[in-house]
Amino acid sequence: MGNMQQHPQKPDGNGAVEQYDAIVIGAGVSGLYQLYRLREMGLSVRVFEDAGGVGGTWYWNRYPGCRFDSESETYGYSWSEELLQEWDWKEHFSGQPENERYLNFVADKFDLRKDIQLNSRVSAAVYDEDAHCWEVQIEGGQRARAQFLIGAVGVLSAKYMPPFEGIDSFKGLSFHTSNWPKEKVDFSGKRVGCVGTGATAVQLIPHVAEEAGHLTVFQRTPNYCAPCRNSEVSPETQAAWKARYAEIHKRCRETSVGFEHEFDPRSALEVSEEERLALYEKLWIQPGFTKWLGNFYDIMTNREANETFSEFVRNKIRERVHDPEVAEMLVPKDHPFGAKRIPLETHYYEAYNRDNVKLVDVRKAPIERITPKGVKTQDAEYELDAIIYATGFDVVTGPLTQIDIRGEGGQSFKDKWAGGPRTHLGIQTAGFPNFFIAASTAFCNYTVCAEMIVEWIADCIGYLREKKLSSIAPTQKAEDAWVEHSNELASYTLLTDTDSWFMGANIPGKARALLLYANTVPEYRKECQEAAANGYQDFVLQ
Ligand code: NAP
Repeated sequence: MGNMQQHPQKPDGNGAVEQYDAIVIGAGVSGLYQLYRLREMGLSVRVFEDAGGVGGTWYWNRYPGCRFDSESETYGYSWSEELLQEWDWKEHFSGQPENERYLNFVADKFDLRKDIQLNSRVSAAVYDEDAHCWEVQIEGGQRARAQFLIGAVGVLSAKYMPPFEGIDSFKGLSFHTSNWPKEKVDFSGKRVGCVGTGATAVQLIPHVAEEAGHLTVFQRTPNYCAPCRNSEVSPETQAAWKARYAEIHKRCRETSVGFEHEFDPRSALEVSEEERLALYEKLWIQPGFTKWLGNFYDIMTNREANETFSEFVRNKIRERVHDPEVAEMLVPKDHPFGAKRIPLETHYYEAYNRDNVKLVDVRKAPIERITPKGVKTQDAEYELDAIIYATGFDVVTGPLTQIDIRGEGGQSFKDKWAGGPRTHLGIQTAGFPNFFIAASTAFCNYTVCAEMIVEWIADCIGYLREKKLSSIAPTQKAEDAWVEHSNELASYTLLTDTDSWFMGANIPGKARALLLYANTVPEYRKECQEAAANGYQDFVLQ
């Protein structure tokens, strides 16, 4: 782990306002690279990070079983050949401790720590229209100003805790998966409850089931979970990756969703049933998201095509769970495969074959309240020593709207985004000049798109500096067109009919809108490149 003393200390909040060229909020995958890029261009940069270390997602989500769902060799940064050659991935789907070590290694290797102030949560940011500059407020009173403000706060970082009545009355231990303690939690002999069965819970449950005395899983909606098929990376594979990283990254930039996998150009309905099942069986034994991203192209757009694969997966689940009643509870029937994020699993379904694991349907009998003893549903009370909330995130909008951001005329960012994200290219929003969002909101292998966006922002700032311009923000017209275009793309998918975090539907009262951009990565890249190449015509430059 890196040397914490190298980080600048948080001042007491009574000093002068510090001045930088750029302020980056967040030291995760995007923020670290943004800092590197801007510093290489000669800008003075300060990163404010809420956590006590770098890594973002890979700092906070340290629950047992947490790991990549992307192949390690495609998730790592592509921008430094030296880094690619120096770093060895231990597993094909690398685990959280290793991922955190990787991002610390990057911070040390590129001497990033000296510009990252930890334990510093940005609470507000106000645009000064006369000076074309942002002033940010850090919790505790510190203030800093910069011409450019970059929100590198991630998309899955604002934790969601359902407002269960009595939540604080519980006498046992409570955990949210995205705020997991650094010290090992010992569940041995304990009665543990897990609320939620999304991608996080699916990684965690097999580990807790093995350790706990008893585990009760409170499930509202079952998911289509696909086998991860993780394994160790052999020295030969490691060497082969190192020899062909350029090719791997080129491929990831060219495929639809930023992985090495690509959809099969045939329709699921144009082949014989035998041929269809042969492909499904072939995909099933392969690691990672192949089952989704290497499938017939129309399983994400055509209900009938989708149903052929949905039913295939349902049967795979039934085969693995011994008790037919429990198996039926685990089989999703209310949404098509892929309309919710597919969790990748290792021994998930087998956990339900253990004597010490009980699955409770809280769709049928919802959780009424948390009591001092445990969880009370409509029809029973479950006594527990620990409750794990694997209840997800206020996705895409949450990490930004929880900061009080004020643009031109004092307008509130939170109010502007109340009906869903409003941007041009996912990167800037009208009325908030020089404010950039460095988070990938495309359906994409995270790092692949995040790198592209970070580079776009750096180039844009470089352009402004070269032309001696003081600010940039998209025109209202460009933003309206982008929102309309995004909604139109969404309407061609099977995503909009299902209640999922993709649609903001996991948070009661949140506006319903597709929060991710449903275009292919090459198309999205082209749109971003064109917006810059035409001299930023869709932007107001001052
Ligand atoms: P999630 O997918 O939103 O799952 C939250 C779970 O909590 C759902 O099962 C949800 O049920 C349940 N829940 C929420 N409120 C509830 C309530 N009041 N009563 C009962 N159950 C309730 O969150 P997540 O599992 O943390 O995953 C979020 C995303 O993070 C993933 O989709 C993925 O993109 C990312 N992630 C990535 C990785 C990786 O790449 N390695 C690993 C983990 C997560 P409903 O489904 O009925 O709403």
